[in-house]
Amino acid sequence: MSALIDSHCHFDFSAFDDQREQIIEQCKAVGIERLIVPGVDLMQCLALIKFKEQYADFIDIAFGLHPYFLDQQCDDAMNQLAALCRQHRDLIIAIGECGIDRNQPELASQSQLFIEHIKLANELELPLIVHHRQSHDLIQAAFKKVRPKFGGIIHAFSGSEQIARYYCDLGFKLGVGGIISYARSHKTQQTLASIPLALLVLETDAPSMPLSGAQGQDNSPLALCEILSCLQAIRAEPAEQVCQQVYQSTKDIFRI
Ligand SMILES: [Zn+2]
Repeated sequence: MSALIDSHCHFDFSAFDDQREQIIEQCKAVGIERLIVPGVDLMQCLALIKFKEQYADFIDIAFGLHPYFLDQQCDDAMNQLAALCRQHRDLIIAIGECGIDRNQPELASQSQLFIEHIKLANELELPLIVHHRQSHDLIQAAFKKVRPKFGGIIHAFSGSEQIARYYCDLGFKLGVGGIISYARSHKTQQTLASIPLALLVLETDAPSMPLSGAQGQDNSPLALCEILSCLQAIRAEPAEQVCQQVYQSTKDIFRI
């Protein structure tokens, strides 16, 4: 089996503090060669600089302000984030995690902030890591205002084939995560089975998004193998081709 990359893993979160080295060894043993670690707030982005130094051969990092943490950010957070991204342009491979979440307050300012992230990604010639929750319409409205030039990943994609194709026409790949393991995600499974394979990448979002059967537990990047199996089960292509293509697509979109 060829190598794997977890395109979205919060490996810096404290849930992994006691077992980080062990998980890295286990990942390498099963062919998971790299994790992409997104930014979620300003202080954590700063801390990621050191984290990247520490685990340079195993992780890549992105900087962004996640909609979950916006209420903890100062008014000037976006300006500071932009300055940090410009200063450390060579260290980051994407802008994100950013986006719009209907379960969080202040949708108007979420949208405005997301647009600022798109502008920043365009300026720095970087892809975006996009968080959505019941917000495809708002994400699309933001993309209409400022068109992302370097694509990215629609993280934890769920939705119809029509929505999938809209994103893909704009140069995005769809993040396939633990959702695929749940029987209730029938519609998303159908979408992921029918759109071109080259549009899909794998992710765990660990320690969030445990797979079906592991609800209530912390998720791990090691779950990537099971997510791959779920994807292989619904795709028509040979298993090895699925594995190779999602690996290559992840490298392509992040230019790693
Ligand atoms: Zn995330």
